[in-house]
Amino acid sequence: MIYLDYQATTPLAPEAREAMLRWLDGPGGTGFGNPHSPHRYGRQAEAAVELARERVAALFPPGGRVIFTGTATEALNMALLGNEQARAGKAASVSAIEHSAVFDTAERLKGGRHVLPVGEDGLLWADALPDGTGVVAVMQVNNEIGTIQPMVEVARLAKQAGAFLVCDAVQAAGKMPVAMADAVAISAHKLHGPKGIGALWLRQGVKLDPIITGGGQEDGLRSGTLSPALIAGFGAAAKLAAERMEADAAHVESLWDRALELFDGWTLNGSAEARWHGNLSLRKDGIDVSRLMSDARGIAFSAGSACASGSGKPSRVLQAIGLPAKLAKNTIRLGFGRYTTGEDLEEAAAAINAAAQAQGAG
Ligand code: PLP
Repeated sequence: MIYLDYQATTPLAPEAREAMLRWLDGPGGTGFGNPHSPHRYGRQAEAAVELARERVAALFPPGGRVIFTGTATEALNMALLGNEQARAGKAASVSAIEHSAVFDTAERLKGGRHVLPVGEDGLLWADALPDGTGVVAVMQVNNEIGTIQPMVEVARLAKQAGAFLVCDAVQAAGKMPVAMADAVAISAHKLHGPKGIGALWLRQGVKLDPIITGGGQEDGLRSGTLSPALIAGFGAAAKLAAERMEADAAHVESLWDRALELFDGWTLNGSAEARWHGNLSLRKDGIDVSRLMSDARGIAFSAGSACASGSGKPSRVLQAIGLPAKLAKNTIRLGFGRYTTGEDLEEAAAAINAAAQAQGAG
């Protein structure tokens, strides 16, 4: 089986796995402590959490603080619903291609949700924000089509409007410098860490109201006992991603060049330039994607987006870039990265192109 679904999740780095084991039981069974306990078991676990916090923080601009959460979805909910502007009843303006963690959550704001359009290239198309906007949410890198938004320009618009800026950097963190915003969400499992652990980074001076209350952990912002094992895995993955950022990006560039040759009969969705090149979202007129996936079942890839696939509904993101529902359903997404080889791509292209040809769409 060849894994080409890096936007859905990434393989766990061996270094992250190793870092986690120590905090599942540890030498002499002493690694299971509650990091909030004052005795030695607790203090050891707390030290592991704080080391990981520094490693995760190093992915962000200097200053600011990292709050650990269960997922990026939770971090985005905290930022969107907990900021002062949202609490004061202001509206949110979000791009049309946000992940549902932002798109659906923004709709819950008392002030409502405005949708900012994107062009055919998948890039934001706004030179001003609608009146009444108090919160802006734009993602750095899109999960379905890989497009990279002009976050410096977005920050300027948000500042002009006096709005609170939330950035979903889930698909960017560990691959490129993370954008500056008031609140930024990331997820360990998209950067070769474990699932079930995310982080919300808050710019210096930013205050939120908690949406989860209880024991007051994480500065009172996210109550609940932390998991040292998951956090240590996240920290190790973040450290590795920071160290390997250039090498990983160069590897992805060479895979991208090869992939474009291998899939030259397909049409790329979204900008080729303003894009993370580990995301190849392709379409071919008339293709039956479910049949294609079944015929090429030795390759793990996705139809449009992992969340949308299986629902039978055409992707909201692909429709937002102007694809009619029919063409949106003719889309596959191949995601590759650190552990993908050129041979993997060659084998995958042979299987997928043969399956397409069998449908008379070669
Ligand atoms: N935002 C983007 C762009 C994503 O790709 C994902 C995961 O699919 C999420 C948010 C949600 O992340 P998590 O799985 O940590 O909740």
